[in-house]
Amino acid sequence: MIPGTTVRRQPPVWQTALADAISDPAELLQLLELDPALLPAARAAAALLPLRVPRGFVARMRKGDPADPLLRQVLPVGAETASTPGFGADPLGERQALKAPGLLHKYHGRALLLATGACGIHCRYCFRREFDYAAAGAGHWRQGLDYLANDPSLSEVILSGGDPLTLSNRRLENLLTALADIPHLRRLRIHSRQPIVLPERVDSGLLQLIGDSRFPVVMVLHANHPREIDHAVAAALQKLAGKATLLNQAVLLQGVNDSAAVLASLSELMFSLGVLPYYLHLLDPVRGAAHFRVEAVQAAAIVRALRASLPGYLVPRLACEERGKPGKTLLL
Ligand SMILES: *Cc1c(COP(=O)(O)O)cnc(C)c1O
Ligand code: SF4
Repeated sequence: MIPGTTVRRQPPVWQTALADAISDPAELLQLLELDPALLPAARAAAALLPLRVPRGFVARMRKGDPADPLLRQVLPVGAETASTPGFGADPLGERQALKAPGLLHKYHGRALLLATGACGIHCRYCFRREFDYAAAGAGHWRQGLDYLANDPSLSEVILSGGDPLTLSNRRLENLLTALADIPHLRRLRIHSRQPIVLPERVDSGLLQLIGDSRFPVVMVLHANHPREIDHAVAAALQKLAGKATLLNQAVLLQGVNDSAAVLASLSELMFSLGVLPYYLHLLDPVRGAAHFRVEAVQAAAIVRALRASLPGYLVPRLACEERGKPGKTLLL
């Protein structure tokens, strides 16, 4: 008899990998052969924002290197518990931009749906690290959909979060179907770090959903350092490149990618996989992330050096977000 004739429904591979992500700082330190003396501070900071990192992402880190640029993005550290003037809980004033539960509308023609509050990885520099997704109605999109349907000036919907690709294909399909029914929407944009941190997420179901959509799909990936891209990520991006326009957005982070050489190799590598650079963001001043700050003057110098070494289309736009402006502020 052929085993498996009684069909047992298995969760997709990526959901198992997501559930198996590392959340205990002690385990992370041990896997990377790091000094256990880092543990008390890691535990204290993890109480503010829990550690979460998929095992496949950890496998791209260097063992024994506490300054590894991938590790630095996810390891909770003591500096997060310090308070720094100007760094607050809601750095962008996003509460005011909530026009319906789970829906932010700040800029002309495009609105952003907080499709979920969950992420596949917890980035220590995240500008929404203290965002109250439940209070903001993330993941409850009925009223957000009504808002989109009632504003014909909107031509683009942006799925964000959290990370919209933590949703199952079934939930995404429901959402995409509802969006496709809104006639004035012309483009769908998905902001996600999942293809980078959990490339298993780019499964055949997702590719089919994107390919079948009536929208031209723009996917904005979030990779900050070239070492985030391993063979599995490269393969996932190449599959996506056939279905969507791929852009990359990075955050300029002290000790991670605050060098023209690192950013140039990120741009070149991403280009070889079908991804063009979009924004290089200055850090948003969120409480607990001040140790990642790169000053605007230094940021401009880095981007000028990039311009001197790369074709214009491989240079990201240096941007930051300011309250009450009609769009992101370009710094250079
Ligand atoms: C960043 C952002 C956008 C998109 O801005 P683009 O310049 O089009 O990338 C849209 N809505 C909100 C609320 C944003 O924060
Ligand atoms: S993936 Fe994006 S939203 Fe999620 S923690 Fe990282 S920076 Fe924040």
